[in-house]
Amino acid sequence: AITLKGVTKAYGEHAPVLRGIDLDIAENEFCVFLGPSGCGKSTLLRIIAGLEDATSGEVHIGGQLVNAVPPSKRGVAMVFQSYALFPHMTVEQNMGFGLKLARLPLVEIEQRVKKAAKILQLDTLLHRKPSALSGGQRQRVAIGRAMVREPGVFLFDEPLSNLDAMLRGQTRVEIARLHRQFAQASTVYVTHDQIEAMTLGDKIVLLRSGADAERHGSIAQIGTPLDLYHRPNSRFVAEFIGSPK
Ligand code: ATP
Ligand code: MG
Repeated sequence: AITLKGVTKAYGEHAPVLRGIDLDIAENEFCVFLGPSGCGKSTLLRIIAGLEDATSGEVHIGGQLVNAVPPSKRGVAMVFQSYALFPHMTVEQNMGFGLKLARLPLVEIEQRVKKAAKILQLDTLLHRKPSALSGGQRQRVAIGRAMVREPGVFLFDEPLSNLDAMLRGQTRVEIARLHRQFAQASTVYVTHDQIEAMTLGDKIVLLRSGADAERHGSIAQIGTPLDLYHRPNSRFVAEFIGSPK
């Protein structure tokens, strides 16, 4: 589970990019951060991951205050938009790399990699280099690299945006399946795509941006996809979600 209390973020003297974020994400919940470009979705995800410090506020993961805990000790695994695979390593080595750093026994690493490869249908590609893979296959390796760590929290930042339309659909289904297979895992998924948010999310956190500078980077509404669609709390939400008039 993840709890955020009054999280704010400001870069230097600039106006805050996140304001007063209060949020609970349960174990086993698929939570989507949705909102226009620049509203702070990636920044909030990076604060949960520990890649960025909050300016103020508290981040709790699994009941523990983690503001001062380094990323590698938070029990989170993150999948980025660009796959960031090591070009000189095989699929197998890429997927096992983090576990090797964590000094897991080699047999254990091999077992976890094989299991993830099977789920992601990468088992016949384990000895290839990333340059010999399609974009969708590379993204699956990146997802596999997160899976083998068996994290309590999965973080995804626009993982489909580099894929073509067909692969996007397939990979979306795989991510939903992955979430269901890790019964205890919370998933946080960033996108600016309403359709992705509506189909994947148990809960949507819609952030606002832009014109209304006073409220930039604050939560416009939290709810299920149906809540936001049928009961938008403002014109901004209705317009962003495309609610019926
Ligand atoms: P997108 O959908 O385009 O990815 P986003 O919602 O993920 O957008 P963020 O990347 O979180 O947005 O950025 C939020 C705001 O913070 C933006 O206005 C951005 O310009 C600003 N920002 C991000 N990183 C920095 C930084 N290192 N220094 C100053 N401002 C930054
Ligand atoms: Mg972003």
